Amino acid sequence: MIQAETLTGSTSSDAAAFPRALRASGFEGEIAMDEATRLTMATDNSIYQVAPELVLFPATGADIVRVLETIGTKGFRDIGFTPRGGGTGTNGQSLGRSVVMDTSRHLNRILEIDPDGRRARVEPGVVLNQLNTALAGHGLFFPPHVSTASRATLGGMIGTDACGKGSARYGRTHDYVESLELVLADGRVLRLRSLTRDEVDSGDSPEAALARSLRERCAADPRAIAGAFPEMTRSLTGYNLRDAFGADGSVHLQHLVTGAEGTLGFVRQATLNLLPLPARRGMAVVRYASFDDALQDARELLATRPSAIETLDEHLFELARKDSDWFRVQQAMTGGTPPEKPLAVNFVEYEADDDAWLEGRLAGLDEALAASGRSIGHHVAADE
Ligand SMILES: Cc1cc2nc3c(=O)[nH]c(=O)nc-3n(C[C@H](O)[C@H](O)[C@H](O)COP(=O)(O)OP(=O)(O)OC[C@H]3O[C@@H](n4cnc5c(N)ncnc54)[C@H](O)[C@@H]3O)c2cc1C
Repeated sequence: MIQAETLTGSTSSDAAAFPRALRASGFEGEIAMDEATRLTMATDNSIYQVAPELVLFPATGADIVRVLETIGTKGFRDIGFTPRGGGTGTNGQSLGRSVVMDTSRHLNRILEIDPDGRRARVEPGVVLNQLNTALAGHGLFFPPHVSTASRATLGGMIGTDACGKGSARYGRTHDYVESLELVLADGRVLRLRSLTRDEVDSGDSPEAALARSLRERCAADPRAIAGAFPEMTRSLTGYNLRDAFGADGSVHLQHLVTGAEGTLGFVRQATLNLLPLPARRGMAVVRYASFDDALQDARELLATRPSAIETLDEHLFELARKDSDWFRVQQAMTGGTPPEKPLAVNFVEYEADDDAWLEGRLAGLDEALAASGRSIGHHVAADE
């Protein structure tokens, strides 16, 4: 049982003075100190509960600068701030005792879609599904996917370098972040994009100066950095030094910020790279007598180059079978033959630009399954 957070009232002597200073700075968004808002913001999708003293809903990107300038330069340096998007993080990352700044209420505009350049410029509170719905009309999509796509924001995805289904093929969020506008803790704004070695060596912008100094301090020995990161498809430990510094002397500070959980600054705008929507998609449902068989096969089925494999164990299968909505998915899950006992399942998805490639993948799956001999049946559940 999770213990309920109790509000003890504000503990900070700055609690009343800070909102006044913020309004005086021209802050246009909402400032909330009421118990209902603080309690709502005391939870996310983690087991933690931490009530903030103050919740801010910035109305514009300029508001973020006003908040951080006020904190950084006007006598409120003790105040910490936590950016918050959809609050779907599972580790309590969007919770904080001091000031929580929620982007999802107002900073949720898609500022520009450039179909020819295959990029979009967004505010941080844009939700993933909102973006992909807008892009679909242009035949484009933002590839990193999270199960929480109906709520997770691009700011939160950048904060966590998110990726989910499809990551084996498409990679992580940082692979698609072309540039970022980052507001630092003192209100200064940096525009972070990839800089070539020459730009880093001789540029006179604050971004180039920062890149120079970081390259000197962090990337003096690129092999040490490469060696420190384990070879994992989804390595998310610490700052992404590996992708921030190129072996050719280039620097990519947007990769350092992506995955930094808001600790390096507040992302107030992002320019994202996009891909064309695949023309065809097919999914096979492969059934197994045990979860172990399904897991072992999943590794081998990667050789057939699926866009995603999701594995379901017997317990989840059984829970689904007892659900009142089972009749809706029974055909897709079982291929029509009701199983006598719970099964484990691999959902193997392929995406293709043409029919021949998709047919080839599905034929390759048949062969791989016959060769492994672990599955007890499969069928193509979706072919669109
Ligand atoms: C059921 C479930 C399934 C999930 N599936 C996946 C999955 O498949 N893949 C995956 O990667 N994650 C998954 N998650 C975790 C979570 O949904 C993702 O990390 C998501 O990207 C977080 O987005 P959010 O808008 O909710 O961010 P929040 O939770 O609000 O914030 C996440 C982090 O980003 C920071 N942040 C938010 N906005 C900004 C900003 N503007 N500037 C700087 N930092 C910012 C926050 O401070 C925090 O550290 C899942 C969570 C649940 C509950």
